[in-house]
Amino acid sequence: MSNIENYLAPSSIEDAAAALAAGPATIVAGGTDLMLQTGSGQKTYAPTLINIQKITEMRGISKDGDTIRIGALTTITDLLTDAIIAEHLPVLATMADKFASDQIRNASSIGGNICNASPAGDSIVPMLMYKAEVVLVASTGTRKVPLNEFFTGPGKSVIQENELLIGVDIAVPPAGFKGGFGKFGPRPALEIAMASVSVGGVVKDGVISDVRVAFGAVAPTPIRSAETEVALEGKKLDEETISAAGEVASSSVNPITDVRASDWYRRHLIRVMTEEILNDVS
Ligand SMILES: Cc1cc2nc3c(=O)[nH]c(=O)nc-3n(C[C@H](O)[C@H](O)[C@H](O)COP(=O)(O)OP(=O)(O)OC[C@H]3O[C@@H](n4cnc5c(N)ncnc54)[C@H](O)[C@@H]3O)c2cc1C
Repeated sequence: MSNIENYLAPSSIEDAAAALAAGPATIVAGGTDLMLQTGSGQKTYAPTLINIQKITEMRGISKDGDTIRIGALTTITDLLTDAIIAEHLPVLATMADKFASDQIRNASSIGGNICNASPAGDSIVPMLMYKAEVVLVASTGTRKVPLNEFFTGPGKSVIQENELLIGVDIAVPPAGFKGGFGKFGPRPALEIAMASVSVGGVVKDGVISDVRVAFGAVAPTPIRSAETEVALEGKKLDEETISAAGEVASSSVNPITDVRASDWYRRHLIRVMTEEILNDVS
């Protein structure tokens, strides 16, 4: 039995923030994580349920100068078709193409994927690579948090009970920036990643710089891999560099063994996918 006493559907960020300030509440966006988690008893609803779907200012992708804002209610499907994403952040479209099924992509929001804080959350890995910042709003004000400082553990983050994630900001990557995303599971679709990788950097005359490397499903949170970034920074992307980076990538992670994959297999996947992306961008 649900203990929901009030149902609210605000149409502005201001009204949603005021509702969050009034007392314990549960936010629902697409509901694709929340409904399963409450249905299974993994989570319980707070007395107030706030449906944020009517807040149109939190939907869509815009560019202001060198900053791209992806509204929290932007869906995974939107990423596949948006012109700004295609031009400046194409790795997010690559990720969207590997995400669940059409039905789930249509309902799943970027904000929900981030706030669910799964170590295997697919959109988080390329957004870490693109150095995204999350924008959090409370009735008392707005703060920005770098995505790589947002997660504190599986299902946990620094977001406060009175805060709403309204979007993510990403600086337009520099000229010559190339990147990729890889995800592996036993099936090609509708699969939680056993491991995922996103690598990006400026590739000029065969040399890579401004390197960013992120991994999913190999630690309690999605992570950046500073070791792999150092192994690549300023190097010529030849066979030797790529193989050495794959080795550093796999030894830099310490994944768990669970029902979906062993720690050894996850490290192997990290190596293979890192090398594949580097071969593609070289
Ligand atoms: C069959 C199936 C397949 C799936 N496949 C994938 C997959 O391939 N890859 C993947 O990464 N995930 C997958 N998922 C998980 C899920 O679809 C995603 O995590 C999705 O992006 C969640 O978004 P949502 O809008 O449905 O979030 P919701 O379920 O509405 O919310 C998720 C959590 O975030 C909170 N929340 C939501 N929006 C906000 C906000 N703006 N501010 C503050 N808190 C907020 C909610 O309170 C809740 O705790 C799958 C789920 C299902 C059921």
